Amino acid sequence: MYTLGIDIGSTTTKCVLLRDGSELAATSLVRAGIGTGGPEEAYAAVLRDGGAGAEEIAYKVATGYGRKRWEAADGEISELSAHALGCHFILPEVRTVIDIGGQDAKIISLDQQGLMSGFSMNDKCAAGTGRFLDVMANILNVDVDELGRLAGEAAAPAEISSTCTVFAESEVISQLAAGAAVPDVVAGICNSVATRTCALARRQGVRESVYMSGGVARNEGVRRAIERELGVPVATSPLAQLAGALGAALYGYKKAAKF
Ligand code: ADP
Repeated sequence: MYTLGIDIGSTTTKCVLLRDGSELAATSLVRAGIGTGGPEEAYAAVLRDGGAGAEEIAYKVATGYGRKRWEAADGEISELSAHALGCHFILPEVRTVIDIGGQDAKIISLDQQGLMSGFSMNDKCAAGTGRFLDVMANILNVDVDELGRLAGEAAAPAEISSTCTVFAESEVISQLAAGAAVPDVVAGICNSVATRTCALARRQGVRESVYMSGGVARNEGVRRAIERELGVPVATSPLAQLAGALGAALYGYKKAAKF
């Protein structure tokens, strides 16, 4: 039996096609989110790659910021629940999920069964989210997927003292004008996101194992900085950005199998 999860985010759309509630038949990721052709493109890609017809899908579940606008959905689930389900599937011993996406950051506490027992969220301010990294990458004229490698090359990470994205932008520009090396500035930017995330995490409480999901998990500079600052290992995996879509597909399986 196939179920499908689609995570329609602010910047990207992710799809997971799940076979029998346990096997990933196909995944897709399109760099276009809510209000674009991204959802349809990601849906078509996952059906094509999984060799499945739309009529073969027992249950389709939407999650993410744009979940209410995907008409093909049979059901929907909040991003918090979707990430909890997805991360528990990826790493059953997870007790704290750090999810940083394109426009928010969430810390989710899980119990032994993988059920959400609490959360903290920053969805009010771009600092500490993927948006901050995207803005800074743009100023530095590098791609977001290069930020992790560049941060690893830093000799003396820059201090970004502004907590506001707009002020931090001016700060980065003046540091570059003063001759700071790009890797040092990138490391400072990654550290700044990590500091905001760790403050949120401490408020929520951090229990091991910790797993990082969302697109920013692909940025090794941020993940390593969080690990350093929290003083605990922060695991991630190539499925991190797909965790919400995976959780939605798992929820779809529960619905379809009527557990
Ligand atoms: P949303 O669901 O809100 O669209 P995602 O969880 O997909 O957000 O995360 C998007 C963010 O992840 C981007 O803002 C970007 O900073 C970061 N990101 C996406 N892809 C990569 C990558 N390949 N390497 C590093 N960072 C990435």
